[in-house]
Amino acid sequence: MEVRHSTNGMAPAEEPSCDACGYHEGGEILYALPNSPSLPPPKQLLVRWTGKTPTAAEVAAVRQLVPDLAQKPLAVVVRELSNSERFLVGAYHEFELNELVARGRHLGLEMVIE
Ligand SMILES: [Zn+2]
Repeated sequence: MEVRHSTNGMAPAEEPSCDACGYHEGGEILYALPNSPSLPPPKQLLVRWTGKTPTAAEVAAVRQLVPDLAQKPLAVVVRELSNSERFLVGAYHEFELNELVARGRHLGLEMVIE
Protein backbone atom coordinates (compact mmCIF):
# COMPACT_ATOMS: atom_id res chain seq x y z
CA MET A 1 0.00 0.00 0.00
CA GLU A 2 1.31 3.40 -0.90
CA VAL A 3 1.65 5.80 1.98
CA ARG A 4 0.66 9.38 1.21
CA HIS A 5 2.56 12.01 3.13
CA SER A 6 1.24 15.48 3.70
CA THR A 7 3.52 18.18 2.41
CA ASN A 8 4.14 20.81 5.03
CA GLY A 9 7.43 22.22 3.79
CA MET A 10 5.95 25.66 3.22
CA ALA A 11 3.91 25.66 6.42
CA PRO A 12 4.64 27.58 9.63
CA ALA A 13 6.37 25.84 12.52
CA GLU A 14 3.05 25.22 14.27
CA GLU A 15 1.92 22.95 11.41
CA PRO A 16 0.90 19.54 12.79
CA SER A 17 2.95 16.45 12.07
CA CYS A 18 2.42 14.31 8.97
CA ASP A 19 -0.69 12.14 9.36
CA ALA A 20 0.99 9.20 7.62
CA CYS A 21 4.23 8.89 9.56
CA GLY A 22 4.19 11.54 12.30
CA TYR A 23 7.18 13.37 10.91
CA HIS A 24 7.30 17.03 11.89
CA GLU A 25 9.18 19.29 9.52
CA GLY A 26 11.17 22.12 11.01
CA GLY A 27 13.69 20.44 13.27
CA GLU A 28 17.30 21.34 12.64
CA ILE A 29 19.33 18.43 11.23
CA LEU A 30 22.99 18.23 12.16
CA TYR A 31 24.99 17.02 9.17
CA ALA A 32 28.39 17.47 10.75
CA LEU A 33 29.50 16.41 14.17
CA PRO A 34 32.75 16.97 16.05
CA ASN A 35 34.71 13.79 16.56
CA SER A 36 34.30 12.48 20.07
CA PRO A 37 35.98 9.34 21.39
CA SER A 38 33.04 8.73 23.76
CA LEU A 39 30.58 8.22 20.89
CA PRO A 40 29.98 4.78 19.37
CA PRO A 41 31.14 4.51 15.73
CA PRO A 42 28.71 6.01 13.21
CA LYS A 43 26.55 3.84 10.97
CA GLN A 44 26.11 4.15 7.24
CA LEU A 45 22.82 5.56 6.01
CA LEU A 46 21.71 4.61 2.51
CA VAL A 47 18.70 5.15 0.28
CA ARG A 48 17.51 2.16 -1.77
CA TRP A 49 15.62 2.83 -4.99
CA THR A 50 12.41 0.97 -5.69
CA GLY A 51 13.89 -0.01 -9.08
CA LYS A 52 17.32 -0.35 -10.69
CA THR A 53 17.57 3.42 -11.01
CA PRO A 54 15.82 6.15 -9.01
CA THR A 55 12.45 7.50 -10.13
CA ALA A 56 12.04 11.23 -10.70
CA ALA A 57 10.24 11.43 -7.34
CA GLU A 58 13.11 9.63 -5.60
CA VAL A 59 15.68 11.97 -7.15
CA ALA A 60 13.65 14.99 -6.00
CA ALA A 61 13.31 13.52 -2.50
CA VAL A 62 17.02 12.78 -2.16
CA ARG A 63 17.82 16.34 -3.25
CA GLN A 64 15.60 17.56 -0.41
CA LEU A 65 17.31 15.24 2.05
CA VAL A 66 20.91 15.95 1.03
CA PRO A 67 21.73 19.68 0.71
CA ASP A 68 24.87 18.99 -1.36
CA LEU A 69 22.79 17.33 -4.08
CA ALA A 70 20.39 20.26 -4.21
CA GLN A 71 23.32 22.47 -5.22
CA LYS A 72 24.24 20.35 -8.24
CA PRO A 73 22.51 20.46 -11.65
CA LEU A 74 19.66 17.96 -11.92
CA ALA A 75 21.22 16.07 -14.84
CA VAL A 76 24.44 15.54 -12.87
CA VAL A 77 22.53 14.29 -9.84
CA VAL A 78 20.43 11.91 -11.93
CA ARG A 79 23.59 10.47 -13.52
CA GLU A 80 25.30 10.03 -10.15
CA LEU A 81 22.28 8.43 -8.48
CA SER A 82 21.64 6.09 -11.41
CA ASN A 83 25.07 4.46 -11.05
CA SER A 84 23.82 2.22 -8.26
CA GLU A 85 20.64 0.71 -6.88
CA ARG A 86 21.47 2.49 -3.62
CA PHE A 87 22.82 5.87 -2.62
CA LEU A 88 25.11 6.37 0.37
CA VAL A 89 23.92 9.44 2.24
CA GLY A 90 26.78 9.28 4.73
CA ALA A 91 27.84 7.97 8.13
CA TYR A 92 25.92 9.26 11.12
CA HIS A 93 25.55 8.76 14.83
CA GLU A 94 22.38 7.43 16.42
CA PHE A 95 20.70 10.74 17.24
CA GLU A 96 21.34 12.08 13.74
CA LEU A 97 20.12 8.87 12.10
CA ASN A 98 16.73 9.02 13.81
CA GLU A 99 15.92 12.43 12.33
CA LEU A 100 17.38 11.66 8.90
CA VAL A 101 15.56 8.32 8.62
CA ALA A 102 12.27 9.92 9.68
CA ARG A 103 12.75 12.75 7.20
CA GLY A 104 13.76 10.41 4.37
CA ARG A 105 10.77 8.12 4.95
CA HIS A 106 8.47 11.11 5.11
CA LEU A 107 9.85 12.15 1.71
CA GLY A 108 8.89 8.69 0.42
CA LEU A 109 12.35 7.12 0.40
CA GLU A 110 13.38 3.65 1.57
CA MET A 111 16.07 4.31 4.14
CA VAL A 112 18.63 1.62 5.02
CA ILE A 113 21.03 1.66 7.98
CA GLU A 114 24.12 -0.55 7.86
ZN1 LIG B 1 5.09 11.52 6.46
